[in-house]
Amino acid sequence: MIANNRPTIALPSDMNYTVNNAVWETLKASNHTCKCCGFQAMPSKAVLSGYMQVINGEVYCAICAASQQLQQAIMNRQDHGFLIATNDMSQSDVSNLCREIGFIMVSDDDPRQQVASQTYERLLKSELEYSQFQFLSKQEPSTVEGFANCLEYLPPISDTQKQKLFGKITYVPNFSVFRRIYSFWKSHTS
Ligand SMILES: [Zn+2]
Repeated sequence: MIANNRPTIALPSDMNYTVNNAVWETLKASNHTCKCCGFQAMPSKAVLSGYMQVINGEVYCAICAASQQLQQAIMNRQDHGFLIATNDMSQSDVSNLCREIGFIMVSDDDPRQQVASQTYERLLKSELEYSQFQFLSKQEPSTVEGFANCLEYLPPISDTQKQKLFGKITYVPNFSVFRRIYSFWKSHTS
């Protein structure tokens, strides 16, 4: 489920933040593994985080981290993704699917590119309709940025209510924003 946690650290525009000792210990203890989708990153000397982040003491990949911190800019972009309503796919499913699509799209010569691109377009077609969220705001939440603004105006609600309202909403990363991260992950996975 998506969440609108405050960004825990201000990320630099290239997302390659300085990893302090405490963060390194947490990343190492998890083997750079995302708590949400299970993706395991391989850090490099140049990118110690492996594009993984620590939120409330837990490790998340850049995609799942974005779903937890909607207002965190990614690669200097506030409009770094979309929110879609999914009946039978969890955030973990969507994160893994988008990463697989991303890996194919960043390859120069993968014959599956057309299929991957079509799958991504189909996924985005379940983008949230304005009518579903009229109760939140008059602003159309077409991207993560608009939706995060809507959530700002929501009164405090219980976790059960949150689950009911947002349980089926998942975050889809914008491919062009995540391109560099996909390229890194693709060349740094076993
Ligand atoms: Zn993840």
